[in-house]
Amino acid sequence: MTKLAIYPGSFDPITNGHLDVIKRALKIFDKVVVAVGENPNKKYLFTVKERKDMLGNVTKGLNVEVDHFSGLLIDYAKKKKANAIVRGLRAVSDFDYEFQTALMNRKLDSRIETIFIMTRGMYSYLSASIVKEAASLGANLNGMVPDYVEEKLKKKFKH
Ligand code: ADP
Repeated sequence: MTKLAIYPGSFDPITNGHLDVIKRALKIFDKVVVAVGENPNKKYLFTVKERKDMLGNVTKGLNVEVDHFSGLLIDYAKKKKANAIVRGLRAVSDFDYEFQTALMNRKLDSRIETIFIMTRGMYSYLSASIVKEAASLGANLNGMVPDYVEEKLKKKFKH
């Protein structure tokens, strides 16, 4: 039976930290569905289409499906027949929110486990927000995001 994981997030845009989580999740699961969340209360730099395009481009050759969802993650995970939800953890500051969400999701459906993948030390500082801030100021993003994403960020900020 194929073991399938959902990796949900904003991916606004995907960073090398996200990509590392995807590759490491693929050592445990046969396939990873990277699911771009659409939260009406959040402001994004890139549209869902742009975020999916970047994800598709940088995960080429991996057993990854790029999709999007809105509404309850657990309903989406059930629809996809996922075995697990994968999330990344960087610092203690991620913990509270992730802990609460994982417990809530287990209450909603105890069959779907949430699995956490600890960041690699070198990516522990990396977040999509810090990357966007650096890009807006014209910083060199080498090692932080794939080249394709760096190009898209440069276009957005016209550097
Ligand atoms: P959200 O907006 O829901 O936090 P993100 O797109 O920011 O979604 O991140 C998706 C997931 O990836 C989250 O679980 C987040 O903790 C994780 N993540 C983000 N950056 C890193 C990183 N550098 N290393 C490990 N995990 C990360």
